[in-house]
Amino acid sequence: MFSCVGYGAASATAPLKPLTFERRECGPNDVQIDITHCGVCHSDIHTVRSEWGESLYPCVPGHEIIGRVVKTGPSVTRFKVGDCVGVGCMVDSCRHCDSCTAGLEQYCDANPVWTYNSPDAAFPQEGAYTFGGYSRSIVVTEHFVLKVPETLDPAAAAPLLCAGITTWSPLAHWKVGKGHKVGVVGLGGLGHMAVKFAVALGAEVTLFTTSPNKVEDGKRLGAHRVVISKDAEAMAAEHNRFDFILDAVSADHDVNAYLALLRQDGHMVLVGLPEKPMSVGAFALVGKRRSLAGSAIGGIKETQEMLDFCGKHNITADIEMIRMDQINDAYERVLRSDVKYRFVIDMESLPEAI
Ligand code: NAP
Ligand code: ZN
Ligand code: ZN
Repeated sequence: MFSCVGYGAASATAPLKPLTFERRECGPNDVQIDITHCGVCHSDIHTVRSEWGESLYPCVPGHEIIGRVVKTGPSVTRFKVGDCVGVGCMVDSCRHCDSCTAGLEQYCDANPVWTYNSPDAAFPQEGAYTFGGYSRSIVVTEHFVLKVPETLDPAAAAPLLCAGITTWSPLAHWKVGKGHKVGVVGLGGLGHMAVKFAVALGAEVTLFTTSPNKVEDGKRLGAHRVVISKDAEAMAAEHNRFDFILDAVSADHDVNAYLALLRQDGHMVLVGLPEKPMSVGAFALVGKRRSLAGSAIGGIKETQEMLDFCGKHNITADIEMIRMDQINDAYERVLRSDVKYRFVIDMESLPEAI
């Protein structure tokens, strides 16, 4: 074990502060990574504040990790010291259930080992759990480490590891492409990647936003149309139009208002994870054989495919770089929907020691 410096919260109501915790030594199949950048996902906030159930404390979040390989175990074949690599929301899974063997580790029957706040069998003591990327370094088994194209700006590539794959995976699964009318709900970290991907895949993209000040950005990011979702008349004009709607909203909102916008046999997919259950009117689905589904991040294979696509098409996130000690203010700005469009922490700003 070695001591690692990071930033974490001591309780659901405490601010994040510098702390130290233990990482495992680099084992035979492990890759040890010096973290250079980490994106700030809204899931970090949900977890730090115990919005999805009681979290484990201290809680060190961060699952949009980019860094350089500094050590590899003797059995590692795909990585070498100096490689630019990424780690997303998972660091392990059972590897033998149907989902794992299909390359969809995020749906592992035994639950994946999440990058933070997840039971960690690598430590002998009972109750050990994982610590995320708001930290100096991380040790991850090779299978869960991604190659990041060297042509991409590593800071702007960090959000691809969660916001990127979470929006890519449903677009790929439902085969969204040319000739499709696609709606994206919410222009945050996930939503802005959804707009970029859906446009790159050839769809006609309409952004739905509650924020009138994001209209120009929506268009700059490639959306063909932007609708202010608080405008009832504008929403009514969109009824029965869409083949596919991706909902990336983090807070309570009325999904029925969007189901009505789907054409017959259209699909609406939730990727946003508000803390409270939502109510769905059966008539909105039954009347036009519409379907409502959900989707979680993406498997390791498709994450690599997404990164390679981004390398080829030069796609990254629009980011605001912050120092580690600005994280608590950054959380408040995310909660006000005031980020353009992902905060990324410069890990050089982490203190050397505490
Ligand atoms: P984010 O950057 O905060 O974006 C959320 C966006 O939702 C905001 O920018 C805002 O867009 C809209 N919004 C916020 N409050 C709203 C409200 N009360 N009513 C309507 N719209 C509202 O968050 P994110 O990091 O993209 O994450 C979005 C959600 O996805 C979070 O719940 C997160 O936990 C979840 N998530 C899920 C997965 C998965 O695997 N499924 C992976 C990562 C994250 P406008 O200003 O444009 O309206
Ligand atoms: Zn995330
Ligand atoms: Zn499994």
